[in-house]
Amino acid sequence: MKILTPDLYFQSIVDVKIELLKERKIKGLIIDIDNTLVGWDVDLPTEEIIRWLENIKHQGFKICLVSNNNRKRVELFAKDLNLPYIFNARKPMRKNLRKAMKILETSTEETCIVGDQIFTDILGGNLIGVTTILLKPIKSKEFWWTAFVRKIEKYFIKKYQ
Ligand SMILES: [Mg+2]
Repeated sequence: MKILTPDLYFQSIVDVKIELLKERKIKGLIIDIDNTLVGWDVDLPTEEIIRWLENIKHQGFKICLVSNNNRKRVELFAKDLNLPYIFNARKPMRKNLRKAMKILETSTEETCIVGDQIFTDILGGNLIGVTTILLKPIKSKEFWWTAFVRKIEKYFIKKYQ
């Protein structure tokens, strides 16, 4: 079950501290959007998220947004952030995660993926061998299949803790 286990688990993206990333020699972050940065039904980044992203960028880290959601959602969200992004990423498939690493120009040791789903973000990250950070999902109001997957995820999270 190691392949489904994150290296780190936090309540929110703002709990991911720069010191921790530096300690782990991380230089680039692959970040999910839906329920990781904002709720899946929120179109634009919040002030808090903009500040967190700006600070991370300011400290020299590179960021690539990688979402399984469609072009319209991802482009609208990323529009003013001035960050590279990949939509329809099909995580946990490795192809677009590797593409993100090319954009970041980082090695697997220097890369970290941050997301809220074990079966897409964490599995995908573990498949390409990067550091994996699982966050508590922002929104609980979701499509039924996501709610179903959550139940399975809760089981695993209990096991880590
Ligand atoms: Mg997500």
